[in-house]
Amino acid sequence: MSELHHFLFENLPVRGVAVRLDDPWQEILARRAGNSSMGAYPAPVAQLLGEMTAAALLMQANVKFNGALILQIMGDGPVKLAVVEVQSDLSVRSTATVIGEVAENANLADMVNMSNTGRCAITLDPKDRLPGQQAYQGIVPLFDDQGVPITSFQQVIEHYMLQSEQLDTTMVLAANNQVVAGLMVQRLPVKGENNLEGSRYGQANEDEIGKNEEYNRIAHFAASLKQEELLGLDIPTILHRLFWDDQLQEFEPYVGEKAPKFACSCSRERVSRMIKGLGREDVESILAEQNQVEVGCEFCGQQYRFDPIDAATLFTSLVDSNDLPTTKQ
Ligand SMILES: [Zn+2]
Repeated sequence: MSELHHFLFENLPVRGVAVRLDDPWQEILARRAGNSSMGAYPAPVAQLLGEMTAAALLMQANVKFNGALILQIMGDGPVKLAVVEVQSDLSVRSTATVIGEVAENANLADMVNMSNTGRCAITLDPKDRLPGQQAYQGIVPLFDDQGVPITSFQQVIEHYMLQSEQLDTTMVLAANNQVVAGLMVQRLPVKGENNLEGSRYGQANEDEIGKNEEYNRIAHFAASLKQEELLGLDIPTILHRLFWDDQLQEFEPYVGEKAPKFACSCSRERVSRMIKGLGREDVESILAEQNQVEVGCEFCGQQYRFDPIDAATLFTSLVDSNDLPTTKQ
């Protein structure tokens, strides 16, 4: 069952999100495996993409952003790019571009960070972007403060969370070819924190130190969660096992219709715009060679074909809704 749960620790400044995705994840993998030109992902790539998918769902659920949260790794190894996009309704799509041989036991650095120039980017793209409005983007390198390549995606994301939100966050992620799952706990800012003065005096405040200790204890429990547990158990069972001694306030879970699901936002209209962007000359030369323009969506495998007439229509200004003459009343 796919599900997503929010919870709070009563009387403690700690909150959490947990996610589990099965059918939609299997569909993402099956669509890729069914794509004859690309083929199934090597196991380490599927695992990386699965962990990224769980992380992106946790982050989107945590910030409740009205738009797309896009998590990307731009690599310099056999995996050139891995992308996950989660919309505010928790629909998700993921893809990876594999350009070389991936060893069976490859870690993050082997796949995407061979010469230490790989990066991880998180973009928040608002749903109804106003003209001139920019998407927010944060980027972290795939190495630690000493310049040593990071070998697991989980560490990358924790590094990012620490830098961007300045909140302590612990994330545990797991993926196989059936399920992706993740658990995140986060320490909420205590009153007076997040401004210089507040944190300077706040650190000396015994109550707050006590609360940090509580967070450390909860984070320690979360981090003790084994991959088999995360992949094999449902979320209520996991929360009960980990935090049986704490008072948890659980919110109505996202299950059934509201559960995270696979959905691709590609459309013929979007592809049309992309083809138009190539310019008439390039499109004509593709037509001369192949008698059609064919574009496949990397996320869902959908093929979009434009014959010479379709293609010519793209460049006829009258059918472009942006250029339609305005009617006078
Ligand atoms: Zn698509």
